[in-house]
Amino acid sequence: MKKELIFLGPPACGKGTQTTKLALYLNLPHIDTGSLLRAEIQKGSDNGKIAKSFIDKGELVPVNLVGSIIKDRLSKEDCSNGYILDGYPRSLEQADILTVINSEINGDTEVDFKAIYFDLHQDILISRIVNRRSCPKCGEIYNIKFKPTRVAGICDNCGAELVQRKDDTEEIAKARFETYFHETAPLIDYYKNKGVLKTLNADGSIDEVWERLLKIIND
Ligand code: AMP
Repeated sequence: MKKELIFLGPPACGKGTQTTKLALYLNLPHIDTGSLLRAEIQKGSDNGKIAKSFIDKGELVPVNLVGSIIKDRLSKEDCSNGYILDGYPRSLEQADILTVINSEINGDTEVDFKAIYFDLHQDILISRIVNRRSCPKCGEIYNIKFKPTRVAGICDNCGAELVQRKDDTEEIAKARFETYFHETAPLIDYYKNKGVLKTLNADGSIDEVWERLLKIIND
């Protein structure tokens, strides 16, 4: 059955690491709106320029801009068996847009839709964010404290020099939490009421959280 899996959770809750792994495991595309938007910024496109001004403040990019990017992406052939959606929806309005996009794409096809919520206390998260580094080439995510590279500052996979995301500073991280609690957290009840919410305890090592995630997926 077609699998549509969406992931909710505060910034730096570990969604990126787990969903990248899950996409390989299930052989489904990993679609991450943050990365799609950063790619637009790198290209210097009009959408990228608009997105940058919001991302730099820790705010949500306008709903129509992200909506059209996500609609194009979900309509691609590689999503015919489903997708792993990381970072979308991020507001009730986006959740309604996703429902419309899905029904247009799926028609009568039966779908296994799950919203997986990474539950983790906020205290741990700020320190995860400011210590996070990522590889601009292969996308691997590291953490100076919790998941260091073998050689400081160099990606273990591909040897590229790691970067810190511009919005991973403490000040912008705080704004991103505000946005999360205001705009995104209401989705937890929204999907609970629809009977599709699965809550994952995201406190633990990468392997521990992965085992819990597999249990939910195979349930
Ligand atoms: P992330 O990489 O998921 O932490 O996202 C980084 C930033 O991209 C967020 O702080 C937002 O500014 C923007 N962004 C990512 N996904 C969305 C979305 N679904 N809607 C609006 N803005 C988004």
